[in-house]
Amino acid sequence: MKTPAKITTAAIAVVVCGAIQGAALNVIPAPNSIVEKEGVFTGNIAEAISYEMDGAIPEEGYRLVVETNSLKVAYSTEAGKFYAMQTLAQLRSQEGVPCVEIVDAPRFKWRGVHWDDCRHFMGKEALLKTLDAMALNKLNVLHWHLTEDQGWRIEIKKYPRLTEVGSIRPGSPLPVVLKDPSCQTYWQNNNIPYGPFYYTQEDIKEVIAYATARHITIIPEIELPGHALAAISAYPQLGCTGEQFDPWWHWGVSEHIFCGGNDDTIKFLEDVLDEVCELFPGPIVHIGGDEAPKKAWKSCPKCQARIKELGLEGEEGLQGWMTDHFTKYLASKGKRAVGWDEILDGNPGKDTIVMSWRGPGGGINAAKRGNDAVMTPIDPCYLDQVQGIADDPYEYINYGLVITLERCYGFNPTAGIPEEEQAHILGGQGNNWTEYSWNPSEYEWKLWPRMCALAECLWTNLENKDWPDFKRRAAVMRSRLIRERHINCAPIE
Ligand SMILES: [Zn+2]
Repeated sequence: MKTPAKITTAAIAVVVCGAIQGAALNVIPAPNSIVEKEGVFTGNIAEAISYEMDGAIPEEGYRLVVETNSLKVAYSTEAGKFYAMQTLAQLRSQEGVPCVEIVDAPRFKWRGVHWDDCRHFMGKEALLKTLDAMALNKLNVLHWHLTEDQGWRIEIKKYPRLTEVGSIRPGSPLPVVLKDPSCQTYWQNNNIPYGPFYYTQEDIKEVIAYATARHITIIPEIELPGHALAAISAYPQLGCTGEQFDPWWHWGVSEHIFCGGNDDTIKFLEDVLDEVCELFPGPIVHIGGDEAPKKAWKSCPKCQARIKELGLEGEEGLQGWMTDHFTKYLASKGKRAVGWDEILDGNPGKDTIVMSWRGPGGGINAAKRGNDAVMTPIDPCYLDQVQGIADDPYEYINYGLVITLERCYGFNPTAGIPEEEQAHILGGQGNNWTEYSWNPSEYEWKLWPRMCALAECLWTNLENKDWPDFKRRAAVMRSRLIRERHINCAPIE
């Protein structure tokens, strides 16, 4: 997956090898090879630009040569051509385009942003803006978190109550500044019904088309067996007890999860995945797997019967069986499953991708076992954490971590992984949960510019990273995101 930097032998004014330099170059993520030359192109780009297919260029890679009278783009995939244009857009200023030769390709193929519409619904307009910002930063995966204890956000035609009932909760916690962990105000319900908030299948098609045009793959997430209370609220028979609930008005992890012993629940989830697979053209579907308390399963006759019948190792074995079942179900539809790192407890099949969130350990273990992994450890990839800027007006979840821009910039997805296993690390992503983001503006503040730092970690080879220069470029990118995309960006301090 590593792309060696190539320095060409064109007429060279400045050869940059290692750290990127040159005030003219404001590109994020930093290209992997740049030769700066004398002169500036000041003509009409549309008239002067030419394109060439070159099969020797890696997937998503490109070569961009700017001379005083011409611009040449070479690529082997449409994504590479698209990224050349993103680079060109960032090189361009009122003075023109500086003459350069750039040979570039990404370090990792999974460069993701996680988008949570469940705790607070961010909505289509905000999402489309973010897809634009992602494209500019050469990010190519949107992991879309659509189902939760607090809300079900995707229309499923076969089960209309999922959105009729599951997309409305009876309130939300009162906003408070959580800098004091002993603060209990968090647990007060504002008693204002929240919803209905969800995406119709037509909305989703529109988002997918927008993303596809920007070479972004959307990975939908249907959480199972945990984080299922909104679905169980709509259809109580999906749980172990048949009790009627409301989607939760507060945050946390519900003990009421999908019943692993009920064949009707399994059939329901297959039906949901049928519609999801039909709707999303991407090759991967996320099936959750995190934070599934087993209390209800321990006293459920159906769950216990399944464990006994199949000779499973207790309740963890039952979750492993479910992961395996739905992984195979997705495979029968030509899709690959990804799950949070808890799925490693159930010995997932070799084709299953592990998303390492509780630290890098899940990804390290996955690679050792021969499974592919996506690195998104809380530190430094959870962007719902405090970012350490002065006078920050917004609140954050408080794990005692301060994930600064610089800390994000230190992310290396292959740290701690032996070289021969590094090919299993597909890449990484920034995760932004919405418990403490009440609206898109707060959410964007947490995403940007920290997501620019993660984007560079996922695209740019280690030897080409340079924190002081990134900080300078990030200021340029931040202005661009504010000016062109109307995105609320945190300051760079
Ligand atoms: Zn059960």
